Amino acid sequence: MKVLVINAGSSSLKYQLIDMDNESVIAKGGCERIAIEGSFLKFKFNGEDVVIEQPMPTHSEAIKLVLDTLVDQKYGFIKSMDEIDAVGHRVLHAGEMFTGPVLGTEENIEKCLSIKELGPLHQVPNIAGVKACKEVMPNTPMVLVFDTTFHSTMPEKAYIFGIPYELYTEHKIRRYGFHGTSHRFVSGEAIKYLGLEGKNSKIITCHLGNGSSISAVKDGKCVDTSMSFTPLGGVPMGTRSGDLDASITEFIGRKLGMDATETLNYCNKKSGMLGVSGISSDFRDLRNAAEEGNHRAKLALDIFAYSVKKFIGSYSAALGGVDCLVFTAGIGENDGNIRKMVCEELEYLGIEIDEAKNAERNNGQIRDITKAGAKVKVLVIPTNEELVIARDTLKVAFGK
Ligand code: ADP
Repeated sequence: MKVLVINAGSSSLKYQLIDMDNESVIAKGGCERIAIEGSFLKFKFNGEDVVIEQPMPTHSEAIKLVLDTLVDQKYGFIKSMDEIDAVGHRVLHAGEMFTGPVLGTEENIEKCLSIKELGPLHQVPNIAGVKACKEVMPNTPMVLVFDTTFHSTMPEKAYIFGIPYELYTEHKIRRYGFHGTSHRFVSGEAIKYLGLEGKNSKIITCHLGNGSSISAVKDGKCVDTSMSFTPLGGVPMGTRSGDLDASITEFIGRKLGMDATETLNYCNKKSGMLGVSGISSDFRDLRNAAEEGNHRAKLALDIFAYSVKKFIGSYSAALGGVDCLVFTAGIGENDGNIRKMVCEELEYLGIEIDEAKNAERNNGQIRDITKAGAKVKVLVIPTNEELVIARDTLKVAFGK
């Protein structure tokens, strides 16, 4: 069976067509600059980049172009659209309405739109992708897979903030958490790798990418996570500030003459590693600059590693110990320096890494970088959010 996975953003739409018989990727690519002049579709064909420039005023044109290209005589990967058995969509937010993936019925789509306020940048484009797909493939099952639902098992004490309770009951203000498909996938892989299925396990997963979050996972279920009401919370990230004393935002607004929305934008887009270093949000640039002696680049890296370390300490307290620490995503999988900085001085918890193993390059496989004899397993696990979405899609659409 073949599943098309769609990740629709405000001006982009990424896709992967996955053959679920062997879980291999048949085709992948993405449309960029949707609703902006100069839109194009880019994908790999026989190892070469192919770019097709075409106006895409809305997500509908983008989806149509993706599907036409998938069955194209020259660049096609399949003979007909009927070969696509189901479509899985990444959707940011389930609010408190769903605790797992659901069918993309009209009713569920409306429910998702009813909470668009909780994720204004993502929810509407995500659903626009679903609607556009339904239009072109009315008889193909659509499945919605959420970034938040893995975190729905958190206890109240982890998700209620110290503000009046009515703000939760009336306005749904609580911790939701994001990157759920990734935390679910890598914690599940760690449990399998360590033979802990059906046994008690305490795992801390560090998804460190452009956006970063850390989760505490007990017996396969999330009990706490660092991202919060929105993906702005937790550790400082590429361009996001992470957790801030709330009074700082009011103060910044006053000092820089910005309203609340502008201040929030500032915290989301101009802060984090970019803001501290003044150079870049990309860790490779920061490493190069730090090695050349740039103090602020080094400081940004130090702040990041220190913040991740503090979450590991706090989650080992929340879990009452830790059996396994997992690193994943762009930085977690590739940046041995950050992994080393995070793990330094965590020996007291039983976390120690083997420097030689840690320095090996990412090979797309699970890597055990634990120092011989250390109590806690430290694993590098490549994440695969698309595969999780495709698996969920088969389960929800066909019960497989
Ligand atoms: P996104 O949140 O956009 O999915 P990714 O998980 O792809 O982000 O992570 C992107 C980040 O990973 C980049 O900004 C970069 O900082 C970092 N990264 C990617 N490759 C490397 C590498 N080889 N070494 C260090 N950092 C890397």
